[in-house]
Amino acid sequence: MLLDVDGTLAPIVDNAAEAGVPEATRQLLIAISRRYGLLACVSGRRASDARAMVSIGTIAYIGSHGAELLKAGWTEAVLDPGLRSWMPQIAAFREEYDTTDLQRRRIRLEDKGAILAFHWRGARDEEAARAAIDELAGHATAAGLEVQWGRKVMEVRPPVAIDKGQGIATLLHGRQVSTALYAGDDITDLDAFRKLRQLQESGQVQRALCIGVRSEDGPVEIEREADLVIDGTAGMQSVLAALIPD
Ligand SMILES: [Mg+2]
Repeated sequence: MLLDVDGTLAPIVDNAAEAGVPEATRQLLIAISRRYGLLACVSGRRASDARAMVSIGTIAYIGSHGAELLKAGWTEAVLDPGLRSWMPQIAAFREEYDTTDLQRRRIRLEDKGAILAFHWRGARDEEAARAAIDELAGHATAAGLEVQWGRKVMEVRPPVAIDKGQGIATLLHGRQVSTALYAGDDITDLDAFRKLRQLQESGQVQRALCIGVRSEDGPVEIEREADLVIDGTAGMQSVLAALIPD
């Protein structure tokens, strides 16, 4: 059971720092973790932040879009080795572009270690904020860094192949899986859908089920590429409940 966090387990809120997993969902997750072979939460946030949000210590977390792995019982997440050498360039970008202009526009910088996320949800003027973000994206590209777009968020990251699909492949490495389920609501979750299907083709996973969580400002590709589409975090809660028979 591989589950995205924001928009899948936790409702999307204006300030991502205030997002939380409802207690009813948390209780379902605890029951799921006892019943099924593996439960992992997969997030764009740092693995430690995802664990603090979900607040279950006995499951695995894949953080920073697959860059970090935090297994059950580990005290600290492990960073993908390919990212480590890029840390100075990422730190330098932060130093140069975390400006008072961004703060004035209420663009929030989330430092995920190897990845810098600029959120403009809830900015004073979202359109003007988006224009400032576009400019920032240009600077990142010029600096040899990669830019990735999500739901009202732009991320600056090392030019290294890191995505949620890679993260779940690392977690499942060496395991033979009869049935794997992945649920997510955003563009970055499509990498996990595709990887799970690849694992099915290679025979490591016998059956793969990709669940798309539909939302108002979510991407259409989620519905297009999913095996099953559900409505929002409430829909996800119903799926979790159905997976635990009385
Ligand atoms: Mg999400």
